[in-house]
Amino acid sequence: MLHKNRLFTPGPTPLLPAAQTAMASFTAHHRTADFKALFQRVLADMKEFIGTKNDVLVLACSGTGVMEASVSNLTSPGDKVLVLTAGKFGERWTGLAKAFGCNVDVLSVPYGETFSLEDIRARVTPNVRAVFVQATESSTGARHDVQGIAKIVRAQGDDTLLVVDAITGLGTTHLDVDDWGVDVIIGGSQKALMMPPGLAYCAVSERAWKRMDATTSPRFYFDMRKERKSAAKGETAYTPATSLFAALGAALEFVRGMGKGDLAKGREELVNNAELCAEMTRAGAKALGLKLYASTPAAALTAISAPDGLDSGKIVKEFRESFDAVVANGQGEMKGKLFRIAHIGYYDYLDTIGILGALEHVLARVTDKSVEYGVSVRAAQQVYARSHEVALAAR
Ligand SMILES: *Cc1c(COP(=O)(O)O)cnc(C)c1O
Repeated sequence: MLHKNRLFTPGPTPLLPAAQTAMASFTAHHRTADFKALFQRVLADMKEFIGTKNDVLVLACSGTGVMEASVSNLTSPGDKVLVLTAGKFGERWTGLAKAFGCNVDVLSVPYGETFSLEDIRARVTPNVRAVFVQATESSTGARHDVQGIAKIVRAQGDDTLLVVDAITGLGTTHLDVDDWGVDVIIGGSQKALMMPPGLAYCAVSERAWKRMDATTSPRFYFDMRKERKSAAKGETAYTPATSLFAALGAALEFVRGMGKGDLAKGREELVNNAELCAEMTRAGAKALGLKLYASTPAAALTAISAPDGLDSGKIVKEFRESFDAVVANGQGEMKGKLFRIAHIGYYDYLDTIGILGALEHVLARVTDKSVEYGVSVRAAQQVYARSHEVALAAR
């Protein structure tokens, strides 16, 4: 059969055609009125996409660049910080904070699990200058309770900042950044924004801007204050990734369209879409007797444990060879133990049903158990039908 190459990975994600066209045709120089208009519109729209009144920065780098910027801008060497880690991306926070000389307290839970708020409360003491966490841990598929964590951090007052890597959380998960009091929230272009890698963004609270005047860690390209000053004039400090800004403009228009002209509503629609695709996928996996890897599964992706005795790499390989569908293996120590199907950004009903249908064929090939065709698809359809009835009743 003919194969279409499709990504089901937690970044990069499928590209929005309108974003690709916008990129391909964009030629404006970055110090022109045309680019300035695009840049200012995009920054204003990004506030709506994130759901914040805080200033937003969009930088030319991958997500890790802005993770690093939040460490270098908000801490000084020797500062005590708390890292909450439940996987490979949590471990990245530890590595970054150590690289900048922080005194790092690490609260870790086993892969696949999330934190107990009681444990966090005991570790967030007044001398902790910043707490770093993920909204969704993309390596395990776990969802963390950002609202609960924010409540604990905010109870400490203004001297403790909360930095959330929501790189796969934004656009897939309901996050009330300002109400909860998240100081820095971070996203990346290659996730729910349906664009290629290359841009990362963040929203920064007044508390965090104030902190930057006192911190002494080295920074130059990633000096957030410099970018904020330039942005206020409608410019970037250095050459922006101009064509990616054009793609971002188109992606935001698409999300606005999902909200029938209201970008904030469109963002909620995008989140609901991810939640529903995830629920369908979980139901499909369970119907096949598979186990979910995460105890509190995220909407961004579904991590599924390989059946006992089977290397998940075989599943990943079979998806690729039979269907040209790219699903992700486990990372690091989790390699071979699980596979990950993402629902971040540009996914719909047919993608979800399609990957589950393919999963049944893949399992029939790589295991010696018989597979009853249609069981996972049916389970997913039932989830969809139920949610559709609810939506119709609400109309
Ligand atoms: C994708 C991702 C990142 C960023 O990785 P980059 O490769 O630097 O873009 C960070 N955190 C999480 C949770 C992610 O999913």
